[in-house]
Amino acid sequence: MSTDDDATALRLDRDHVFHSWSAQAHLSPLVIAGGLGSTVWDHAGRRYLDFSSQLVNTNIGHQHPKVVAAIQEQAATLTTVAPATANLTRGLAAERVLSHAPDGFTSVFFTNGGADANENAIRMARLHTGRDKVVSAYRSYHGNTGAAVVATGDWRRVPNEYARAHVHHFGPYLYRSEFWATTPEQESERALHHLERVIQAEGPTSVAAILLETIPGTAGVLVPPPGYLAGVRAIADRYGILLILDEVMAGFGRTGRWFAFDSFDVVPDLITFAKGVNSGYVPAGGVILSEPIAKTFDDRVFPGGLTYSGHPLAMASIVAALDAMADEGIVENAATVGRDVLGPGLAELAATNPLVGEVRGLGVFWAVELVRDQATREPVDAALMGRVKAGALARGLLPFLADNRVHVVPPCVVTPEEAETGLGLLTEVLAEVA
Ligand code: PLP
Repeated sequence: MSTDDDATALRLDRDHVFHSWSAQAHLSPLVIAGGLGSTVWDHAGRRYLDFSSQLVNTNIGHQHPKVVAAIQEQAATLTTVAPATANLTRGLAAERVLSHAPDGFTSVFFTNGGADANENAIRMARLHTGRDKVVSAYRSYHGNTGAAVVATGDWRRVPNEYARAHVHHFGPYLYRSEFWATTPEQESERALHHLERVIQAEGPTSVAAILLETIPGTAGVLVPPPGYLAGVRAIADRYGILLILDEVMAGFGRTGRWFAFDSFDVVPDLITFAKGVNSGYVPAGGVILSEPIAKTFDDRVFPGGLTYSGHPLAMASIVAALDAMADEGIVENAATVGRDVLGPGLAELAATNPLVGEVRGLGVFWAVELVRDQATREPVDAALMGRVKAGALARGLLPFLADNRVHVVPPCVVTPEEAETGLGLLTEVLAEVA
């Protein structure tokens, strides 16, 4: 372990690794060689407090020993098996996932991650309703796939070809309201009116599903105002539309509850998940189906599938991760740290630093919105965000940055002391760049 290894890792990366969502020529990625809990380090031993949970997925922290051991044990028993087989670990993983879902959810379709979870939930909704359109929010992220099945040449393409299929709407975001709202109640009511008008204008009988992140994450941790999600549920019911809640980022502890929608008065028809279900130790995701949708496919072929659906290593990691989270009170820890440390600490930051326009969130899921001017709410520019990133890394804090925001999203296992330390470092960085 040395700085030479860091240099080699970086050289090999820059010579041969093609990165997501990036122009390739100007990248200089952080080298990470190891991690434990809420800390990661490079080969030379430089340590960083992980306030990003990588891509907001290591809810259980890095290298949880029980999850690592479960993967090792499963690898020694059976590393891979076809999805059409029955496998005990897969059955246990489905049972564990369902144990945290509301009554009425009966089965789980496993995928490799969040994007294909949403792909398959949309497919299920279309086939269940016989309708094609999906209404989703402009400020959202649901994953990076889409054209693969339509490009396919065999029978699997035909039940998956939909025209005019995606419609967008504005969800609630009081700080930058599209609806001239000044209170959460107004924002909720007007956003619901807008959503219903979009659906009416599109022709409600053409709409299969409303697909929403329960709390839009990458878009800015946009916690919905009171009544909004219940209102969306009511609109969906009024027009026979299914509600798909994307819990990929918000689910499995991030908000201090097993599912983010547990904090709101709403139950969806389909739930999509990935990330926190096993903290990304092995790629995995899935769709949780409510009984009526599952029954649609009792006698009808479901035209979807993946070679690695229910992969044994992923399944073993799900069982171990969910057991450890339950046994060790990890979801409760996320709630407590959010309530006692991150919430008050970020409110203090907002009150004292002129760059901070708003902080919002819950559990270990927070956004700090940086503005040039608190009155106009003009976002800060990329250059300033670059200084925030450099300042944080120089202090040993690994931040998650999106547009003009710092997302404070440590693992659910973060201790109150680590949360205090991270907040202190962030406060210093923002004071420096203000
Ligand atoms: N849905 C949400 C809410 C996400 O945040 C993400 C990824 O960040 C996805 C879906 C896509 O998940 P994946 O990258 O595992 O395909």
